[in-house]
Amino acid sequence: MMIVMKAGATQAEIDSVIHRIQSAGAVAHPSRGEEVTVIGAIGDREHVARLELEGAPGVAQVVPILKPYKLASSQVRAGERTVVDVEGRKIGGEHFSLIAGPCTVESRDQTLTTARTVAAAGASLFRGGAYKPRTSPYAFQGLGQEGLRLLAEAKAETGLPIVTELMDARDLEAVVEVADVIQVGARNMQNYPLLAEVGRAGKPVMIKRGLSSTLEELLMAAEYVLKEGNPNVLLCERGIRTFETAYRFTLDLTAIPVLKELSHLPVIVDPSHAAGRRALVTPLSLAAAAAGADGIIVEVHPNPDEAICDGPQQLYADQFAEYAEQVERAAAVAGKVLASAHA
Ligand code: PEP
Ligand code: MN
Repeated sequence: MMIVMKAGATQAEIDSVIHRIQSAGAVAHPSRGEEVTVIGAIGDREHVARLELEGAPGVAQVVPILKPYKLASSQVRAGERTVVDVEGRKIGGEHFSLIAGPCTVESRDQTLTTARTVAAAGASLFRGGAYKPRTSPYAFQGLGQEGLRLLAEAKAETGLPIVTELMDARDLEAVVEVADVIQVGARNMQNYPLLAEVGRAGKPVMIKRGLSSTLEELLMAAEYVLKEGNPNVLLCERGIRTFETAYRFTLDLTAIPVLKELSHLPVIVDPSHAAGRRALVTPLSLAAAAAGADGIIVEVHPNPDEAICDGPQQLYADQFAEYAEQVERAAAVAGKVLASAHA
């Protein structure tokens, strides 16, 4: 339920509504817009139905939230967009974020070389997997704690905040120590206990869309994190399975404007995993940026031909600066400014 306050509602009237919501056993989520304050009453349907706030002092109207995801819905924020602040790098609103780095942390040299290169070219954040979701149990599974240590070293040297994946809640403590954004991978998008755990971890979370998940399912995954009191959620479109076999996945560009219609959360696009090959990464990045994405997460490697994982889709580090310039221009088309180390 959304309680829309009158334009001239006093703080005492707003507090009184919040108090009524809480005493009915629901949670109040106030959002102060430029003109009016709206308060989401989220909780057990019966508790919320019993509120009877129509006609209460300062209340203009009470409207139901029709979507199954409540806190992720654009309705709950009355048109305001979420801007996530990652160590001073803003993501969302007019801020565009370029997240770059290798698929996998392989070695100290590979990690630090990539971090230095992308930082110098103006990347906003550094990505790299220490725990890797691999289709084959025989494939390299990531360096684990040693990988996290190398990511911490890359951050210490370049100042770039770290985006890294958490696959197993048992690694939460170690990952939280290093990650500035916890990535939940496509394969874990519907791992509900994991989503609830990261919701309680107090760090921004990026949720990647499942290989065959609808946008509503992605938003319900975000709802699991938001429900735990963590407002800093990024949605990531990374390509979905379709009948097409000419490339790895189909990048769903339509998801960008649609997610932004349905939700107030920032939308990041991963052209690397969608494409599966390098030649497609730049055109898809430009299309995503021009379509209004709030950021791109892209794989970069100093020597992709020798990469342990996802070599064919990783950009050559020495070509990254040119790529970043192109993406920055495309983001400007959509009215966004790159939040980079230069800024
Ligand atoms: C990744 O970004 O490292 C990754 C494994 O991506 P996805 O979960 O989208 O496959
Ligand atoms: Mn990868």
